[in-house]
Amino acid sequence: MLYLQKQIDDAYEYARQWLGQGAPASYIPELSKANPNHLSVCITDLTGHTLASGDSDVRFTIQSIAKVIILITAIAQRGYDAVFSKVGMEPTGDPFNSIIRLETMRNRRPLNPMINAGAISVTACIPGGSPEERFGYILENARLLTGDGALDYDRKVYQSESRTGDTNRAMAYMMRSSGVIEGNVEEHLDTYFKACSILASCRQISRIAAVLANNGVCPDTGRQLVDPLSVKVVRSLMCTCGMYDESGRYAIHVGVPSKSGVGGGILGVVPGRMGIGVFCPALDEKGNSLCGIKAMEYLSEKLELSIF
Ligand code: GLN
Repeated sequence: MLYLQKQIDDAYEYARQWLGQGAPASYIPELSKANPNHLSVCITDLTGHTLASGDSDVRFTIQSIAKVIILITAIAQRGYDAVFSKVGMEPTGDPFNSIIRLETMRNRRPLNPMINAGAISVTACIPGGSPEERFGYILENARLLTGDGALDYDRKVYQSESRTGDTNRAMAYMMRSSGVIEGNVEEHLDTYFKACSILASCRQISRIAAVLANNGVCPDTGRQLVDPLSVKVVRSLMCTCGMYDESGRYAIHVGVPSKSGVGGGILGVVPGRMGIGVFCPALDEKGNSLCGIKAMEYLSEKLELSIF
């Protein structure tokens, strides 16, 4: 344990060298207010014990990390076949918010659930009579996975994205026009924006990751929170698509199935070993946490975490 704490502290010190580089996301205006000097590295082992370094209790919006929870929720409610009739499983090589393939791919389905178009399509699969009900299922899963029954979303970030998220809006309308999604587009977007605005700490991100590392079983309670098929699906997609158009380089340099978000968080799953959370709001040009990736590279090398 002492050895692991030292490695986490060292990863934090190592990543600190890049503080000052990159910048918080600004296309969602509220996110530009984030403190770019916040930095944290956390590991939760498979007994449920969390070790932390840095600003581990600062809450930030999980943004695209929500795509993992959205997918888990949709598969649990609608089943694997129904969900993957609305979204593919292939990497894109394009930025996370790219719209171009929606027009050029033959069947118009978004390529995978880890890009914006795919996550919006998966969100639209979640059944429910109202957007509140659909978001309620996602939030409930986020609460179960973190073990925090009070987890909530950030109203200001949600409103900020809802006001400015016209690219996502364009994608959603385009998907409805081609029959990929059905129903009220604004309601689906509302659900997606709220899911992206869920607030969690780095410590909590590592706890979600630990459940996925532990084949869906909560390390604290022994309860199966995510079915094994969904665990396999999300871990695979994180590996091939979780870091967007940086996924290939990241697989070589880190080799840990991971999902990033423009709030600055990265969730990393080391199957059978541990869950990792890293956090720093300053992003690289691909929209991934710059210091976060440095911390993951350090941990991967020192703890020999690459699954490859
Ligand atoms: N809410 C953000 C969006 O849809 C999430 C993007 C991200 O974290 N990469 O643009």
